[in-house]
Amino acid sequence: MDIRFVYFDLDDTLLDHRHAERAALLDVRTTFAEPFAGLDDTTIHETYRACSMPLWRQYAAGAIEKTDLKRGRFEQLLAELDIDTLDAQTVSDHYLRRYASHWRFVEGARRAFLHVADRFPVGVLTNGFAEIQTQKLDQFPMLRDRTEAVVISEETGYMKPHPQVFNHAADAADTPPDRILYVGDSYHSDVQGGRAAGWQVAWFTRNGHGGAAEEAPRLTFDTWDMLLDRLR
Ligand SMILES: [Mg+2]
Repeated sequence: MDIRFVYFDLDDTLLDHRHAERAALLDVRTTFAEPFAGLDDTTIHETYRACSMPLWRQYAAGAIEKTDLKRGRFEQLLAELDIDTLDAQTVSDHYLRRYASHWRFVEGARRAFLHVADRFPVGVLTNGFAEIQTQKLDQFPMLRDRTEAVVISEETGYMKPHPQVFNHAADAADTPPDRILYVGDSYHSDVQGGRAAGWQVAWFTRNGHGGAAEEAPRLTFDTWDMLLDRLR
C-alpha cells in the first residue's frame, strides 16, 4: 500500500454518533416523559433509525430538503410510536441540543487518529448537516489542528457516496486518488464511494455491518489497534 494521505470519516468512525443519538433520544424521553411512557430505549432508538435512514437517502439524492429531513424524522417517529400530543419541530429542536451534549470519540479513535496524523497528512471527510458537523469540529479542535483538509460533503453540493465529493476531497488534499486511504464505517457511503472514486479504503466494522458487504475490502478492522498494525 503506497499511501500519501489518509482521510477519516467522522460519524461512527472517529466520533461516536450512535451513542450521542441514543443518549439524546433518552433525554427526549425524559423531558417529554408522559407521551413516551412505557416505551423502552431500544424501541425508541430503533424506530428512530428506521424513520431517519430512508429520509437521509432521499436527502442525499436531492429528493427532499434539509428542513424536511430534520422535522420529518420526528414526525414519523411520533406517528410510529402513536404519540399525537407533541410537536415534531419542538422534539427535533430539543433532540439536536441534547445530541450536541453527548459527542465523544469512539473508543481508541482519538489515540489512533493522532498516531496516523504523526505519520501521514490527514483529513476529515464527512456527510451530515454542515452546521452540525462544524460544531463537532469546534468541540474537538484537534480535528482541525491536525488535519490538512476538512471536507463537509454538503458544502460540495453532493453527498457520499457521490464521486464528486471524493474528487473534491482529493483536490483539497492535492493527492492522486489511488494514493489516498479512506477510513470509514459505512459500506455504502465510504467503502463503495471511496472505491468508485479510485481511493484505497479501510472499513471500520465496529458496528457489526460486516454481513451486508458484497465484497469486503482487504483492509477491514474492528479495533483501532488493528488498523495501526496494518499501517505499520
Ligand atoms: Mg460514518
